Amino acid sequence: MLTCKKSYRDIPFAHCQHRHDGHCALIHGHNWAITLTFACRETDENGFVVDFGKVKYLKAWIDENLDHACLFNEDDPDKDALLAQFGHLFKPYVLPGTSCEAIAEHIYEIFNPLVLQQTDNRAWITEVEIEEDSKNSAAYLPA
Ligand SMILES: [Zn+2]
Repeated sequence: MLTCKKSYRDIPFAHCQHRHDGHCALIHGHNWAITLTFACRETDENGFVVDFGKVKYLKAWIDENLDHACLFNEDDPDKDALLAQFGHLFKPYVLPGTSCEAIAEHIYEIFNPLVLQQTDNRAWITEVEIEEDSKNSAAYLPA
C-alpha cells in the first residue's frame, strides 16, 4: 500500500461542546487544520496516490461547509432557539459531534466516498487528522 498526505490549514471555525463542564461549553473558535492520508495499491498513470490537482472538490467542501462556520452538535438543545433568533449571525453546520475526534470521523464519512468515486475505487482515505490550533489534535482511522 502507498500513501500520501494533504493538509488544509488555517481554517477558522467555531464550535461548542454543550455537555462539557468547562469553558468548552461556550461557543469559541480555533484555527483548524485537516490532514488527509490517502492510500492505494496502484498509483495513477503519473505515479500518484491521488493527484493533488484533482482533489479541489475537497477544498471546495471545506470552504462551503466549515470555513467561518459555527459547528453545533446535532443534539445540542440550545441550537434551534439560538439559530431561530440569531441565525443571521451564524453559518451553522450541524453534525453528530463537535469534538476533534467527531469532526475527524464526520469528514472521513463524507470524503472517503468522494475519493473512491473520483478515483474509480483506486484510492481511499486511511486517516483524517484534525488539529485544533497548534497544540491539540485527534485522528480517525477506519477499523
Ligand atoms: Zn474548542
